[in-house]
Amino acid sequence: MPSKIFGVDLRLPQPQNERPGKTTSSATNSPASSRRGLKLGSSDKKNKERSLSKDRKIGPSQLSPSIQPKSVKLGMYMESPPTLFIGAPSQSSGVLMSGRLQVTPNVPEATLNSVTMYLECTTTTKRPVSDRCRECQTQINDLYEWHFFTQPKTFKAQNGMQELPFSHLIPGHLPATTHGQIGSLDYSLHVKAKAADGQEIEFRRELKFQRALLPGNEKNSVRIFPPTTLALHVTLPSVIHPIGEFPIQCRMTGITTQKGNDTARWRLRKLLWRIEEFESMVSPACSKHASKVGGEGKGISHENTREVGMDELKQGWKTDFDGEGSIEGEFNAAIDASAKPQCDVNAQNGLRISHTLIIELVIAEEWATGKKPGAATPTGAARVLRTQFNLNVTERAGMGLSWDDEQPPMYEDVPVSPPHYQGEHTTMTDYEGDDLHEDVEHLVLTP
Ligand SMILES: [Zn+2]
Repeated sequence: MPSKIFGVDLRLPQPQNERPGKTTSSATNSPASSRRGLKLGSSDKKNKERSLSKDRKIGPSQLSPSIQPKSVKLGMYMESPPTLFIGAPSQSSGVLMSGRLQVTPNVPEATLNSVTMYLECTTTTKRPVSDRCRECQTQINDLYEWHFFTQPKTFKAQNGMQELPFSHLIPGHLPATTHGQIGSLDYSLHVKAKAADGQEIEFRRELKFQRALLPGNEKNSVRIFPPTTLALHVTLPSVIHPIGEFPIQCRMTGITTQKGNDTARWRLRKLLWRIEEFESMVSPACSKHASKVGGEGKGISHENTREVGMDELKQGWKTDFDGEGSIEGEFNAAIDASAKPQCDVNAQNGLRISHTLIIELVIAEEWATGKKPGAATPTGAARVLRTQFNLNVTERAGMGLSWDDEQPPMYEDVPVSPPHYQGEHTTMTDYEGDDLHEDVEHLVLTP
């Protein structure tokens, strides 16, 4: 059966509403592991066989009513809760998965020569090296396999449904199920039963693997904006989640500068935050299309950046011009759940997703004379201070398990103190918007 006839239909469903994002691509050497997937991967030949078996699954025999019904019906009952890895890949001890494969005869006596089940990891790229080539688009790796019996086994209809138990410790280093803008990682249990009459009966159950990093101490950062004396102190949670708000505490110091009897000071007029999701992946080439990328073991690197949350604030902080002066405030930020945000992932096959919080402060300069320190005049100068922070986006620990947010931080999470100063990651530019000066005369200055 020519596999290409059905190739297009086998693509994983694609999100209907892709958000616009910046995208770059470049040819590169793919990491050696990207072709082998998760190291436990199967050979190319095996992938091909598996692909053919998938073709059969939706082949003509199922598109038109089959004369010969399947001798058994396969089903599955999962006993274990959904797989949630706790902790980083290097630390997680894994999760026990267990269930029962259910075999229901459709005929008085159904003899199966073998029943094999594979724990599969499917890596899909939306940017295959060769368009419409399924081998370039999808790699399937077997992580584990079960052989339920070695001798042919007969299932009798009079005994009804019979169950074949299975269990496995899912290793904690595996990347979680991920559906990115470029790449996807999916897990499934794929059952293949071979009947004595030559029939092959298949069954597939999707699995969702998730990871939760335990919350640790808050992260304190200080960003400076040379050549000014401005310093921004930011406190963020150690982990945040795809759903739900998180607090950002900000304190800016050094806003007041004495110049003789007069004072120059910065007033915060606007605060913008936004969260960016960065994804990168190396799309491997199948052996047939390896020449397109310059040989075996190479691929094409793709990157995508998109915004998954933002807001603009014009109030909500308090200003103190005394001494060197300070501005202080706390506000909530959140990832936009409708953007279908993904958790951070760093898979051996080259799929990486990370998140960045960008904060922009628009500050306007004022001048107060020694005679009237309470009355200030805007100088017209405005600046944009821009800085960014890494966010750890992870699932909540505590879904169906005894873990909760009160879990004491692990030793590794305790930050070194005091927080170190970082002069990098910041920029200061002139503000070019004109919305700052409209209401400037209504400013209420703290004495
Ligand atoms: Zn190909």
